[in-house]
Amino acid sequence: MFILKGIEQLEKAIAKAKKVRPRVEFDRFGRYRVSGSKGYYTVICRKSDNGYKTVDCTCKGAEKGLVCYHAAAALSLHVALARREQATQICVAPVKGMNEIPYLKPTIERPVERVGGIRIN
Ligand SMILES: [Zn+2]
Repeated sequence: MFILKGIEQLEKAIAKAKKVRPRVEFDRFGRYRVSGSKGYYTVICRKSDNGYKTVDCTCKGAEKGLVCYHAAAALSLHVALARREQATQICVAPVKGMNEIPYLKPTIERPVERVGGIRIN
């Protein structure tokens, strides 16, 4: 798990995600499945009680607090969804530089419309 503070910490992971092009599947808002070397990992983006934006991934790297490319790939989808979900006001509100994240084309397995109204926490 790591705390998302800005775009800088994601740079390497984004570069790797662009190279590896993992498949990102939408589970529900804030929860994604990302393909990795050993099958799928689950990435959870959320806002903690103290206002920090945290990203969890089930891979080994993330366990050590590293920013993995699964997280970067999931975040690119998460940010895109969050923009469409302004009415619900969840999670990825302004993180500095977040809008500059290069957009990785998401793979959405289920219609985005179904995300509406779901809250995390
Ligand atoms: Zn990971």
